[in-house]
Amino acid sequence: MKNWKKALIIIICLIIICSALFLFLGSTTEEVGSNNLGSVDKVTYSYYGDAPVTIVIISGMHSREKLHQSVLPVVAQSFALTHRCNVINYKVNVTSSPNDFNIGRTNGESLVHDFVVKDLKENGGADLVIIGHDHEEGYGEDYYIATPTMDNASVELAKKVTSAIGFKHYQRNTNESIKSTSIINVDYPLLRTPSKVFVYEIPEVDGKTNAITRTCALVKASFNALS
Ligand SMILES: [Zn+2]
Repeated sequence: MKNWKKALIIIICLIIICSALFLFLGSTTEEVGSNNLGSVDKVTYSYYGDAPVTIVIISGMHSREKLHQSVLPVVAQSFALTHRCNVINYKVNVTSSPNDFNIGRTNGESLVHDFVVKDLKENGGADLVIIGHDHEEGYGEDYYIATPTMDNASVELAKKVTSAIGFKHYQRNTNESIKSTSIINVDYPLLRTPSKVFVYEIPEVDGKTNAITRTCALVKASFNALS
C-alpha cells in the first residue's frame, strides 16, 4: 500500500475515534429515581463545557403518547451537539399501568413530581423546562405551547418563541379555578425549581420527520430568546 493511502486511513480512523470520544464524553446517563410506578433516567448532553443556556426536556410523562418519546431525545442530542447549550432529557418510564389512560398519566406525573422536580431543585433549576406531549386530533390545534403556570417569565418567553416560529400559544384563564391535577403536581413545582415552563404538544398523527423539524425549531427559538 502506498504511503499516502496508509496516512489517509490513519487520519480517517483518528477522526472516527475522536468523534466517538466527543460523543461519549459529552453525554451522561443516570437514573435519578425509581419506585413501584416506574423510573426516571436523566440524560445530560453537554458538549461545550460552560454553555450559557440550559434547556430541560421531559419525555414519557404520559406513557401512551409515543411520538414525542421518539422525537424529543433525538432533538435533545442533535441540538446540544450543534449549539452552545446544555440539554437535559429526563426520560420517564412508567411501568405501572402505562397503557391505562388515567392511571398511566397520574403515575407519570407522580414520577416527574417525585424525581425530576427534586433533581432540578438540587441543581438550581434550568432556564426552561419543556414538557413533551402528543395530542389527539380535535384536542388543540397543530403544534402548540401552553403556559399553564401563567407566570410572567414563562408567558413572555412563550410569546417570543411562538411569534418566531408560528406555533399557537395557549394561555390559561387565571380567573378560572385550576381543574388539572398536572398543573398542581407538575407545572407549579417545576416553576419553583426555579425554571420557566412550557407544555409542548405535538399532533400524534404527524410523521416523525416533520415532528423532529418542528421540535428543532422550537428548541432553537427558545435558545435564541434565552441567549
Ligand atoms: Zn400528554
